[in-house]
Amino acid sequence: MGPPGAGKGTQAKLIIAEHNLPHISTGDMFREAIKNQTPLGVIAAKFINDGHLVPDDVTIGLVRERLSQDDCAKGFILDGFPRTIPQAEALDTLTKEIGRPISSVINIDTPREMLFERIGGRRVCKVCGAPYHIVTRKPKVEGVCDKCGGELIQRKDDNEEALATRLDIYIKDTAPILDYYEKKGLLHTLDGTIGADNLMKEIDKILEATK
Ligand code: AMP
Repeated sequence: MGPPGAGKGTQAKLIIAEHNLPHISTGDMFREAIKNQTPLGVIAAKFINDGHLVPDDVTIGLVRERLSQDDCAKGFILDGFPRTIPQAEALDTLTKEIGRPISSVINIDTPREMLFERIGGRRVCKVCGAPYHIVTRKPKVEGVCDKCGGELIQRKDDNEEALATRLDIYIKDTAPILDYYEKKGLLHTLDGTIGADNLMKEIDKILEATK
């Protein structure tokens, strides 16, 4: 959990590399569907580009299908889901169905000014999705992914207007989930300003302790 720009995707990618778990990012799944112009992509594009949430029924259906796949039987990292209380409630049902309850919820707490800085300079690889930043996480060759040579692009929803909408939606619809998981005793809040490597170490400790 955490607002846009908190580092959820970056951390999820570091964790999956270490723990060999599937990375379930609803944002990545929607972007892939948009790229391939599937029926899901056509629906998702209407909401994503200006920073709105994709409707719950569509998003929950997508996650239900993904969690039912064999590779999720040994665990998974959810990134960007749930984002509303109805999604969190649906996730409780889905995880019961597959006998894999959520073991920990990690919240990356990051100040608002920092989010604008990070999102404004954020670039991602068009091919493999690896994250970069024009100041703090530069590729070796400008505009080119270190890992796969793919082109680095700026996400359509990474502009100031869409980010302001995404932050408002985060406060209104997503932040209440923190309370939901706090009450269940699953929430771990970490400081998002300590740098990606330090954050990864903190997350690792939580994952080890809650395995
Ligand atoms: P992200 O890559 O997680 O920042 O997601 C990018 C965009 O995808 C969001 O701003 C939403 O428009 C959409 N999206 C991703 N996950 C969800 C979700 N759980 N519920 C609704 N919309 C979502």
